Amino acid sequence: MMHRVAIFGATGSIGTSALDVIARHPERTRASVLAAGSKVNELVALCRRHRPEHAVIADENRFLALRDGLREAGLPTLAHAGPAALDALAAGDACDSVVAAIVGAAGLSSTLAAARAGKRLLLANKESLVLAGELLMQAARDGGATIVPIDSEHNAVFQCIAGCDDPAAITRVTLTASGGPFRGRSRADLAAVTPAQAIAHPKWSMGPKISVDSATLMNKGLEVIEAHHLFALAPDRIRVLVHPQSLVHAIVDFVDGSSLAQLGLPDMRTALAVGLGSPRRIASGVGALDLLTQGGKLEFEAPDLDAFPCLALAWRALESGGTAPAVLNAANEEAVSAFLQGRIGFLSIPDTVAATMDAMPPQPADSLDMLLDADTRARAAAHTRIDHLANQN
Ligand code: NAD
Ligand code: MG
Repeated sequence: MMHRVAIFGATGSIGTSALDVIARHPERTRASVLAAGSKVNELVALCRRHRPEHAVIADENRFLALRDGLREAGLPTLAHAGPAALDALAAGDACDSVVAAIVGAAGLSSTLAAARAGKRLLLANKESLVLAGELLMQAARDGGATIVPIDSEHNAVFQCIAGCDDPAAITRVTLTASGGPFRGRSRADLAAVTPAQAIAHPKWSMGPKISVDSATLMNKGLEVIEAHHLFALAPDRIRVLVHPQSLVHAIVDFVDGSSLAQLGLPDMRTALAVGLGSPRRIASGVGALDLLTQGGKLEFEAPDLDAFPCLALAWRALESGGTAPAVLNAANEEAVSAFLQGRIGFLSIPDTVAATMDAMPPQPADSLDMLLDADTRARAAAHTRIDHLANQN
């Protein structure tokens, strides 16, 4: 039977990698829904190539541009716009699987809709797990959805624990971090780094937001919270190691003394092929790993929490629970956006996140409304801090 895949964030780095893998298996997979934020021309170009049944643009003002673009291209693809259309298509019959690859909290609603509808959820949108991890995991259980993590480290853990259905058998999970473009620098060295330097990642090619997150190590902090939810791991069972070669993606230690690691070249198409094919292995286009041509070295070191305080802030948010991870995530999204616009410096990212967390002490949160309210208030508090910092520049 044809496996129909909806790709949310189709124009992005993960979205285009997913389409690349899908196009390698025309006999078994097809992109049936493509969704993007605002880039209509890029979305129409993808529709020409992949011929989905539906195309959605999140920005409602671009509906006519999308509809007319599809018409001019002579495509039968139906045009939709707006967040409600995203949710409806994530949950609807046009797809069996959903690749959740929208960046930021903007991806939460459609990700939840796919989980509730019992889809196979290829989850790249880590911010939705940070913001509402308990609710998302519960929605997946209630809806009967299978979540395959599409973050290289978590996908690696998913592969390592396949066949182990006893969570108590896992004693520790190690997530590796490349260290980003500024590995080895001191805090003082980081004050003047530019957005262009921050998004020039040494190992991975990714969208701008996650590239900055990798440079601050907030990405690894978000991933610690992500691992906690995905694999029901207590914080003290999760460890981060910097591994500059980015070939070992995660290591799982078991109660019997075994440690299983997953290795591969840093290319997200491997994780996506696991998500699309599992339990089968399917070709992804990623080349074979040859440890000798990679320099024959695998190095590991502890992260520098002084130069990269975002990682410690994320641990703090995880330990606090309640609204704290939502506040951390919202403040970080706003700070990264201000940094990319050149409004604030690199060190103002952790400053803004810490100031926002201090201004909003953690509160218990058991509903989506409470978390979304914390998200909104944290963005306002972060803006106050960002305006203050920008005026000092
Ligand atoms: P990207 O910036 O390249 O792409 C983002 C996509 O989201 C685009 O298609 C954009 O149109 C869409 N989008 C943005 N705002 C939207 C909105 N309001 N509504 C609907 N769509 C919207 O980002 P990316 O690097 O592909 O990352 C996507 C997600 O995957 C992020 O959560 C990121 O943390 C995660 N992730 C990415 C990688 C990677 O290698 N790129 C690895 C692990 C996890
Ligand atoms: Mg990752």
